[in-house]
Formats: sequence, C-alpha cells, structure tokens
Amino acid sequence: MAAGTRYFTEWQGKPLEQVFLLCRELAEDPEYPTVKRWRADGGKVIGHFQVYFPEEIAHAAGALPVKMRGAQTDCMEAESHFGSYLCSVIKSSFDIALTGNIELDLFVTHPICDAARNLAGVFGRNLDYKCEILYLPQAANSKHSIEYLRNEYGRLARDIEAATGSKVTEENLRASIALYNRTRVLFAELYQIRRETPWLIANDEAVAVVALAGVLPREEFNDLLAGVIGMVKKRKAKPKDKMRVVFEGGFCEVPPFDLLQTVSRSCYVVDDDIYIGLRFILGPVATEGDPLGNLATAYIEQSSYSPVQHDRRKPKEKMLLERVKNANAEAVILAAAKMCEPGLEEQVAYSKALDDENIPYFVSEFEENQNTFDHLAIQLETFVENIMFD
Ligand code: SF4
Repeated sequence: MAAGTRYFTEWQGKPLEQVFLLCRELAEDPEYPTVKRWRADGGKVIGHFQVYFPEEIAHAAGALPVKMRGAQTDCMEAESHFGSYLCSVIKSSFDIALTGNIELDLFVTHPICDAARNLAGVFGRNLDYKCEILYLPQAANSKHSIEYLRNEYGRLARDIEAATGSKVTEENLRASIALYNRTRVLFAELYQIRRETPWLIANDEAVAVVALAGVLPREEFNDLLAGVIGMVKKRKAKPKDKMRVVFEGGFCEVPPFDLLQTVSRSCYVVDDDIYIGLRFILGPVATEGDPLGNLATAYIEQSSYSPVQHDRRKPKEKMLLERVKNANAEAVILAAAKMCEPGLEEQVAYSKALDDENIPYFVSEFEENQNTFDHLAIQLETFVENIMFD
C-alpha cells in the first residue's frame, strides 16, 4: 500500500458529535471494513485476542495488528464449535474469522483463561493460517520474568516475520515503539480530561474512539485521537450534577455501547478498564538499547493491572481503590461479562475491598448481544438517587 494511505477519513471536517457517531459505527461494524481495505491494498494482518499484545512488533514488520474483540453477531457459524457455557467474545471473535469478515495472516491468543487458551486450537483446526499462543509471564515477580518475556517476544517476532515475509529490524522496532509512545501520551491526556472535566466527553464517546486503536494503522489512529482531543477541549459543555463513578469489568469482553450510554446518562464515568490491553503500558517505552528487551521490561515494570495479570506488587483490589481515589470517584460500577470466570471471581474480591472502604458499588453483568437496558437504567437511577440524596 502507498505510504500514508488513510483508511478512515469520514470523520475529517465533521463536528465532534458526528465524529463520535462515525467512530462508534466503525467500532461496531462486524465486517471490520478498514482491515478489509488494508488487505485489499496488499497489507498483512496479525490478529491478536484480548487482553494485552505487544503490537509494536507486528507494526515493525509493516503489518496491521488487529485486536480481535468480537462483534455483535448471531455467532451462527461459530456456535457449533463450542460448548454453551462460554462468554460471547470467544464465540464472536471466532465467528468473524470463520465467516471471512476478517482475514488474517497470523492469529495469536493468550492463556488468560481456559476458553482463550483453547482458541488457538479451535482457530488452527478451522483456518489455514498459523494460530499460536503468546505466553506472557505467569510469575511476573520472578527475577527471570523479563528475560523470559524478551525470549518469548523474540519467538513471536520470528513468527511474525514468517507470516509477513518482512524482517522485524531493531531500527523499525525502535520507530514503532516511538510511534506507540505517542499513543500512550495521547491516551493519558484523554483519561486526564475524563477525570478532570468528565462533562466534556462521555464514556461511550471515549470508548468509541479508543476502540479504533485496535483496527486502524497506528499513524492514522494517533492523528484521529489528537484531533478528537483538540475538539473535546473546545467543546461547549457545562458540568451537571451527576455522580462520579469508575467502571470496572471491561478488561476483556467489551460492554455494548448502549450499556455504556445508559451508564453515561446517570453518571460521569471518570475512569474505566475498557480496552485496558490497548492502554496497558502506562509510560513511554525506552527506544535506546534492545527494543524487545525494552518492551518486556515495560510489561513487567510499567503496566496497568487486570484480572488476568498476576503480580504481587499490584493486588487488584488495591489497584481498583487507587483508581477510585485518583479519579476522585464516589462509587464503582462492578461489571463482568456473562460466563467470564476471571471477571466474576474478581467481582467478589472487589466488592469486599469496596465494602471495607465504605465505597458504594453497583454490580452488573453484560454480554455483547444484549439489547435491552431499561431494567439496568431503572436500577442504576435508584442506586444513584440513594447515594446522592442520602
Ligand atoms: S471474557 Fe473472560 S472468559 Fe471470556 S475470554 Fe475474556 S477472560 Fe476469558
């Protein structure tokens, strides 16, 4: 493809509200149209399942790393390949691959749970590209974890080279890290706006933009995000008397936009863990020295938290309490995807920690294809009123 080709230009020159609608439309499109256009131009695509993936390595090989985070489909094709007691993102991610809505050159999953671990085998038996597992360190606190992960990234880089026919050179990798560092700065700015002036951008609007980091070439996404931040800062919106909440539970399967919109109607969501994998490395990754080693170090030393990373220095309950405190939130929405074992398990630990601190919380479950939210809206309004008029 020609350098600088853009795959999502519809938003340019549009007012902010329309930009958000266009972003949501693209994020919800089960046909992944920008990925199709990239492939039609001869580009290679590396699909990676939730939660974290070092996209810089795929980018350095000139490929498009795509976050496989499902879609709102009926999963008719995928349904017969799985048992029934599974979360929907597993089924819908396979469904979009099986129906050809998304075509890959390599698929990488992670052993974050039994279902995700088995996804490589299911993909591999049914699709004709390589499907593999990236083993991020289970023992993040071991003194060998960085060296282990650096070697694992080396193995991944070789598989990406084989899938794309392009070398992952150190020079390219450094340039990719620098590009992704730019995204890290922009994400930090976006979330700062949400914490400090949440009336300028609603949760569903922010998520619609963040989602596109998983499907657009990174150069293009950075321009989009910088453009949106510029417009958000100039938005004429006044603060309302809404409760400030943290939304926790979107680390893997992503809640439907209508659910996020329902929450945004009653509350200001001042922080969340939605698409945390795309925002997992918090600070800039070093560009000097060994780039694969730098990415491995950043995963261990500079990362956020999620129920699928186990690090004694970051107990999840403590991290959630810090998120609440840093965002000056009054309450928490504790959500979990239906049938998600890691998510539901953490919900128990989180509720206990919040009880101990007297922080009110609202427990909820969701799935991708959910389409009625009236009940949730009523329950949420009651929860908010009970706290605000207590
Ligand atoms: S939503 Fe939960 S159960 Fe489903 S793949 Fe993700 S971590 Fe595993």
